Parts: sequence; C-alpha cells; structure tokens
Amino acid sequence: MPEDTVHADTPAEARIAAARGSRNDHTRRRNLSSLLTAVHYGGPLTRAQLTRDTGLNRSTIGGLVAELSELGLVVEDAAAETGTVGRPSHIVRPRRDVVALALHADVDALELGAVGIDGAVLARRRANLDAPPTPDDAAAFSWEAAREVAAELGGVRAAGIGAAVPGLVGIDGATVVDAPHLGWRDVALGERLRGALGIPVVVGNDANMGLRAEWSFGAAKGVDTVVYLNGSASGIGGAALVGGRMLRGGRGYGGEFGHMMIRSDGDRCSCGRRGCLETEVNAALLDEAAHDAAALDRFAEVLAAAIANLECAFDPDAVLLAGYLGALFDVRRELVTDQVRAMAFRPDAEDVVIARAALGGNRLLIGAAERAFAPLLRDPAGTALAALA
Ligand SMILES: [Zn+2]
Repeated sequence: MPEDTVHADTPAEARIAAARGSRNDHTRRRNLSSLLTAVHYGGPLTRAQLTRDTGLNRSTIGGLVAELSELGLVVEDAAAETGTVGRPSHIVRPRRDVVALALHADVDALELGAVGIDGAVLARRRANLDAPPTPDDAAAFSWEAAREVAAELGGVRAAGIGAAVPGLVGIDGATVVDAPHLGWRDVALGERLRGALGIPVVVGNDANMGLRAEWSFGAAKGVDTVVYLNGSASGIGGAALVGGRMLRGGRGYGGEFGHMMIRSDGDRCSCGRRGCLETEVNAALLDEAAHDAAALDRFAEVLAAAIANLECAFDPDAVLLAGYLGALFDVRRELVTDQVRAMAFRPDAEDVVIARAALGGNRLLIGAAERAFAPLLRDPAGTALAALA
C-alpha cells in the first residue's frame, strides 16, 4: 500500500501527521471490513443491528454505510417496518450485482455459479460430462458460463473465482497437486483460470470448501471445531476445522478421512490399502442395500465407528455428514447417534452435535465463493472488482 509509506527524509511533523493519517486510514478500512463482514454473514441488517454486531457507534456506522454505498457494495433501503415503536430503521443490504464466481470440477460435471455477498447462489450453469474434464475443459467452460451468468444477471462485478476440486491442492491455492478421480497432476489451474477470466483465482479442495460453506451459512455456523464427511461418486471427502482453522496437515494431505482404515481385512481401496471407510460404505453399496434394513444397520454402525474415531482425534463440537453419508444418517439417525455415544471416549459425549449438512447442492459453490470473497471482506476499499457483462 504505497499511500501508507512514510519516507525517512520527510520532516518530522509531516511524518507524525502521516502516521496518524495512516492509523486513521487503517482503522477506517478495518471498520469497513467489519461492517461488510456483518452484512455478509447476517444478511440485510438495520443500522441498529450493525451497531450491535460491530460495537461501533451510530454516527460511525452512518459514515461507513455511506462509504460502502459509494464503493457500490451495499444499498440502504429507506424506512422499513420494524414492528416496534420509534424511529424506523434503515436496512443495509448487499448489492446483488457484486458476486464471486465459483467453479466445481467433478468427475461427471462442471458447474459454475455466481454467488452474492450474502451467500445466495444467484445464477448457475452446469455441463454434464461423459468423461472427467481436462483442465482446458474447465477453463473453457468457466469462460463461457461466466459470460452467460453475467448476462442473465444484467452484468455483475466479480471479486474473483473460487474453484473446488476433488483432490489435493497446493499451499499456494492455485496448483492441483493430485486429483486422482479427474486424472489431474500438478495442474496450474489458478493460472489457467486467470488467463481465461482475467480475475483473481483461488483453488481449494472440495471438502474443505464444503465445510467452509457450512461454517459460514449452514449447519456449523459459528462452530469452531467441526469434522465433516461427504460421500459422493468419487468417494468420501473429509475436512476438519480445528479452533477456527482448516486442517491441512504438514503437506496438505490432512483430512483424508475416507481412507481411515476401518477393517484391515476389508476390500481393496483405490488408494491401494484395504478396508478404508470409503470401501466399506459407498454409493454403490448403499444403492444395493436401499431395501435391506439389516445391511443399512451395518453401514450405520461402520459410520458410527468412523465418527467415534474422529471424535477421539479432534474432540469436535459438531460432526457434519453430507452427500450419501447424510442420506444414510437421515434413515439411521438414532442408531448412529446411540452407537457413537456408546463408543465415546470423552465424557459429556452427548454434547457433540451430529447433523446432516444443510446447504445441499449449493454447498460447494458457496464455499468456493467464500474463498474468493475473502480479500474483499478483508479490505472493501482496497479490493478491485472486475466488471463482467
Ligand atoms: Zn483408501
């Protein structure tokens, strides 16, 4: 930030004034961030609610709302019905034309969505595929779908694009190190998407992005230690939020809960080992067992054992189940919950919430968009938006 730079040869008074100005500027930008973040998570809010949520006083809020309006990030509605006696409060809401794009690349489809500041999926495009997409397919689809959703929405300004990939993503948030189901190895997906779209790109593991979405807007909202298990066509993806930080592990392989060993003499897994969770409970086995109550009980018991192991490792406040594991949990809720509690290591195990993920088919788009929105939420005045028409 060059405007914050103070040179050594500047006279002392000017240096002090500049330092003060810089501090004020820093405070203002931080407050803008607090306000936009409150609207991001809380949806449309009155000035009174913003005062309560941010701890800033009313006049400061007024100035900040005006600045966010000038930046084209929020709109303020005139008087709203509050249902209480007194001055009607204005409602501050995110502008609908500010979006983050979100791409989900999967084995059988590419999907792109435009997601609003409040986490609403405003428009989407999907291409069903016979074979896994190549990185070039993903870039070409993103270019075309971005233009289509922008046209559908009458033009948007994009903070960037987040891409959710079923595989291991480098610490740079740009390189797909290994996505075995897609056949992608060391793919510079960030660079390709930036080349195609000309906007900032962040690439992430799909399960991490799913958990991120549930933490921001879904079943784990505001819960800081969460274990997440998602069953899909490409196996079981896992993620863990530990004290508010996403688990990565030393080299990025952390959270591969689908390959937790459940039975050392079980079936051979795609990873080469035997009896992994995803070979013991998967979409094909559950389809076969749809009308077999005893088989469903057995799968529920396997799932419960996996959850009990994860509880030992993470001591979570909540365990979220998505995809086919969420569906299995729905039909065997009591059995899973009882078994987990019976096997619990920690005391007060009934405090651990086991729940089905809440955001359904929008989850990965919302989670990918969350990553793309992060710089804008951190510094609303200093983050450029790109117009897409
Ligand atoms: Zn495995």
